[in-house]
This record gives sequence, structure tokens and C-alpha cells, in this order.
Amino acid sequence: MFDKILIANRGEIALRIIRAAREMGIGSVAVHSTADADAMHVRMADESVCIGPPSAAQSYLNFPAIISACEVTGAQAIHPGYGFLSENASFVQIVEDHQLTFIGPTAEHIRIMGDKITAKDTMRALGVPCVPGSDGGVPDLETARAVAADVGFPLIVKATAGGGGRGMKLAKTPADLDRAFQTARAEAKAAFGNDEVYLERYLGRPRHIEVQVFGDGRGGAVHLGERDCSLQRRHQKVLEEAPGPSITPEQRADIGARCAAAVARINYAGAGTVEFLYEDGEFFFIEMNTRLQVEHPVTEAIFGVDLVREQIRVAAGLPLSFTQDELVPRGHAIEVRINAEKLPAFSPSPGRITQYHAPGGLGVRMDSALYDGYRIPPYYDSLIGKLIVHGRDRPEALARLGRALGELIVDGVDTTVPLFHALLQEEAIQTGDYTIHWLEHWLETHLG
Ligand code: ADP
Repeated sequence: MFDKILIANRGEIALRIIRAAREMGIGSVAVHSTADADAMHVRMADESVCIGPPSAAQSYLNFPAIISACEVTGAQAIHPGYGFLSENASFVQIVEDHQLTFIGPTAEHIRIMGDKITAKDTMRALGVPCVPGSDGGVPDLETARAVAADVGFPLIVKATAGGGGRGMKLAKTPADLDRAFQTARAEAKAAFGNDEVYLERYLGRPRHIEVQVFGDGRGGAVHLGERDCSLQRRHQKVLEEAPGPSITPEQRADIGARCAAAVARINYAGAGTVEFLYEDGEFFFIEMNTRLQVEHPVTEAIFGVDLVREQIRVAAGLPLSFTQDELVPRGHAIEVRINAEKLPAFSPSPGRITQYHAPGGLGVRMDSALYDGYRIPPYYDSLIGKLIVHGRDRPEALARLGRALGELIVDGVDTTVPLFHALLQEEAIQTGDYTIHWLEHWLETHLG
């Protein structure tokens, strides 16, 4: 096992990793930009190293500075968290070239899943059901028109290098195709430096269901059920829950086993998430994330396992600490993402926290790096906390969420907390009957 690991991230996820390391008796090294000198992850880690100015490109994404921080402190492994360098295959390669360990999958697996066309081809070949669409990239308009005639309308043009909902354009009718194709390509080129796009059937009222998998890197893998992340704004998740309210135990066992078998076949190592759109009882693969997800705590709550500890163990070459049979979900968990944003536009609201009080009590977990007097810098993501509740069943979890939100105090900046108070009054949230489009419609009628 490692003596010391470096956390190449900030905010709540850096704290999350430091906590796991400490419980395992492993030392932690925080890295930070000059804007984060007072950040909680710096205070909580055993050691810290300043790696650059505020801009993420010069600090949290700065390969040489992070590698040097390992060399200076003697950290043997790097945990990337989510975002930043977590799915950067070139970084993983450089980490390995320096005889350090990347806590995550291999560069090759990140590369395969980072390219959505290759990811779909790979998963299809491994027996995972995919959204019908073009087989591979669509090089020009003429091909797009021919493929579209087959796939049918509405359809969606997606960037193979896509992420964060960018480079994705809807064509409702043949008349929209030229424009959707050209704008998706232009956006993809600008955002990712790669303008390759593909076509997919547009599903009208799907749910977003994702399966948590864990591989040992040696042909063994398990699944930890699914999360429903259908509550989205601009393709960004807002609330996540597990188990999925619409998924039966049989469906869970079936899709879970297929995903675990697929990642086992490629000797996948560590945590991964296989994302699906789910409609009329059918699953359609859209992409795989080769990292820890923001919403991993809902899975931890119902399975009672520490996924970060497991990531560190697998990276150190240890076997998985649970078998599939030992993984039995219990109760229901819900996470809400608390962002420093001002409604109704969800515009960033950085600034000084004048008062912070975290909720507590049975079945409540608050993952946040906030503290009284902390100044949220304007340079990074607006996520400032995740409130996770666990109950014996969904109604109990919802009641607990309302209770915990009522205890939470975040003064000094605007947050998305009022949104969750309002959502809890909605019947669709109470019954769990919502699709990926529900929140956008709700926002239009209630905040628009
Ligand atoms: P990104 O990597 O940019 O997040 P994804 O492929 O994961 O892109 O898709 C993000 C979201 O976009 C999905 O959760 C869903 O809301 C929507 N989406 C993606 N593909 C389709 C599709 N074929 N039909 C309908 N909605 C889709």
C-alpha cells in the first residue's frame, strides 16, 4: 500500500479523498492554486504544495507542476478526483513515465472511452445495448443525409470528443439537419479541437440511468447497481438517486451483469460508470465515464461501501474487497448538488461565506469544503456542496432531504437550495415520475 498520495483536485472531492486516505493510514498531499491558499483541502491535508496561479490551465491542469509536487513530497500515487485531469490519457501516460501510480484506469481505457464513437463500438461489441445511429463518424453533409434517412427524425448530432453537453445538436426534421450538423461540428472544433461528429436517434422521454462498475484490472469486475440522474438542466445533473425509481431488481441484475462482464473482458481497473438512456423498459448506452462520479455517494449510501478506498486499493494492486453476492443495496439515497448560483439564470455567485452550518442527524451526509468566512473564488466550478440523504425507502429519503435542507445555512452567496425546496413540493419528484426533460419544462413555467 502507498504511504502517501497526492490529490490533484480541490473542493469537496479533494476532502473526500483525503478522508479516505486518512482512514487507510495513508498520508495526503494537497495541491492548490494561489487563489486556493485558504481552501479547506489545503488545511485538511497533511501537506500542501502551491502549483500555480488561479487559472486552472496553469495550476490544476499543470502536468509538470503536479509531477514535481509528487517528487518534492514523495507522494507515490495521484488521485485525480473528477473533472480536471481525471480523464486525461496523456496525463496518465506521463504519471506512469515518472514511476508514479495513477489512481484510476489505464491511459488506453481512458482513450477508448473518451472517444464516444470508439466507446460505442467497443461496448456494442461487448454486448452492451447502444442508441441506434450512425456506425462511426459522419464525415460530411451528404453522408449525414443518407444516415439520417435510415435513423429517422428527430435525431441528435453529437461530438465524438464531447463532454458537459457541448457539441450536441438536435435536428427535429430533415430541414434542421444541415444546420445541426454544421453547428455541432463547429462547436466541437472550438471546444475540443476535434470536429468529428456522429448521429443518434433522439429519444423523446428517456430517463438517465447509469451503472456503477468496479474492475480489478485482472479480468474481475462487479457492479453496484444504478443511479437515476434524470433531473438535469442543460444536460447537467442536478439531483441523483439510487436505486432508480423505475428499475426493477431483475432489470438491475441484468443490466448490471452485462456492464460488469463488459468491463471485466477488457481488464478494466477501478471505478467506472456506464451511462444509459432508458425508455420503455430498454437501455441504450451513451457513454462511459472512467472516473469517480460527483454522485458516487448515493451508491455508497445504499451499498455501505467506500468507493474511494476501493479505488486506492485497486491502484495498489489489491483485489476487490467485495464480491458481487456481498453487494446488496439497502434503502434509498438522494443527492442534491448545491451550487453557488443565482436563480433564475443560474449565474455564478462567488463571494464570501458569512455563515455556514451543515445539516446532520440520522442518514445525512454533507460533502462540502465550505467554512465560515471562506471566500469562494470565481475561477472554478460553482459546486459548493453535495447533500446526500439515506432512508429505509424513497418516501423516508425525501422527508429527510426536506428536513436536512431546512437545517442547512449558507449565507453570503446565492445558492441553488431554494430550487430544491420548491422541487420537493412537486408531485413528479414525490412519485419519481420524471424524464430528462422534466426539469427544463418545470424551470420554464416556474422560473422563466
Ligand atoms: P456529455 O458527455 O456531453 O455529457 P452525453 O452523451 O453523456 O454527453 O449526454 C448528456 C445528456 O444529453 C444525456 O444525459 C441526455 O440528457 C442527453 N442526450 C444524449 N444523447 C441523447 C439522445 N440520443 N437522445 C436524447 N437525449 C440525449
